[in-house]
Amino acid sequence: MISEKNYELGSRSSIIREIFSFGQMRKAQVGADKVYDFSLGNPSIPAPDSVKRAILDLVETQKEEIHAYTAAAGDMGVRDTIAQSLNRRFDEEFTAANIFMTCGAAASLNICIHALANEGDEFIVFAPFFPEYRCWVEGVGAILRTVRPEAPGFQIDFEDFERQLSEKTKAVIVNSPNNPSGVVYSEETITRLGDMLREKSREYGKPIYLITDEPYREIVYDGCQVPFVTKYYRDTLVCYSYSKALSLPGERIGYIAVPKRVQDYERLMPAVAGSARVLGFVCAPSLFQQVVARCVEDTGDINAYKRNRDLLYQGLTRLGYTCIMPQGAFYLFVQAMEEDAAAFCERAKKYDLLLVPSDDFGCPGYVRIAYCVAEETIVNAMPAFEKLAKEYGK
Ligand code: PLP
Repeated sequence: MISEKNYELGSRSSIIREIFSFGQMRKAQVGADKVYDFSLGNPSIPAPDSVKRAILDLVETQKEEIHAYTAAAGDMGVRDTIAQSLNRRFDEEFTAANIFMTCGAAASLNICIHALANEGDEFIVFAPFFPEYRCWVEGVGAILRTVRPEAPGFQIDFEDFERQLSEKTKAVIVNSPNNPSGVVYSEETITRLGDMLREKSREYGKPIYLITDEPYREIVYDGCQVPFVTKYYRDTLVCYSYSKALSLPGERIGYIAVPKRVQDYERLMPAVAGSARVLGFVCAPSLFQQVVARCVEDTGDINAYKRNRDLLYQGLTRLGYTCIMPQGAFYLFVQAMEEDAAAFCERAKKYDLLLVPSDDFGCPGYVRIAYCVAEETIVNAMPAFEKLAKEYGK
């Protein structure tokens, strides 16, 4: 007998992937330039030149060792470089020992959840949230509890959060800049979150950990600051990935950073290592460990996303769509023009507009538009958005 739970997960592809596949089929039928695919969060800007230079140089000069295994937690020099960079930027005190290299944010999150969870533990997420959290949390036999969205600003609904917290809460996951809303949690929100977690940890006599999922940390606009959460709450595990800001999603490279002052640190780091071992996420890709160390503070051209955001936001609001101006990531979260967001997305498909309904993000009634696309896709899609709005009398 195979695992029914995993059969379910594998045979039911995600709505995002389904829409993307539909787009591929339509592109073959009518031509790529006539399909406006806003479904996938695949960075559209290339990795910076420094990445290419690092790859070429490493492959040329370190012929043998560059493809070899590293230590399970990653190369010591790479981890030290990342630690020093975090210290410089966020006034932290990391050393290589606090950093565990991973295969991207998905691995970082899975390892942290696995390292903390015992059967029946609860993990809390704030809607709208990245749908894979459900799969990762439930995959270890833990329970996902969701805090209702705080529309229209999508910060945190603290009243509902307090209701969801209990002695069973093992950890809370925050994702800022957020997929799908593009919202960055303000310093006030993070401060209040930290205060509440401290109070509840004291009340329950055990730590409630905070896991930050921050692959979009550097993708912010208009000088927006993303609070570095370890400064606001002691028991924080940071999950980072180079998939988005360095445009390396296919290379599977990221890290976990755990400050030494985190409660039970001496047992937590071995649990992180043990989880990585169980899950098979040891020794992140050797070449790309070295590449990210050489490009540790580089990013792609974030300004290209800002241009896309402005173009899309202005165009859609002019046509009568309602959404908040995102401060980060590369998603616009727009109110569907009917209650059923999936039905709205089906109508959009008539115009070869591929949008993602928000139901799986735990926040019905919206659509996610991933604007990590070529600028002309946004320009050319505007007549289609207009026809769609007209169907609803806009
Ligand atoms: N977390 C969030 C919020 C994401 O949007 C994504 C990818 O889109 C991930 C995690 C997974 O990132 P990675 O490709 O680095 O595994």
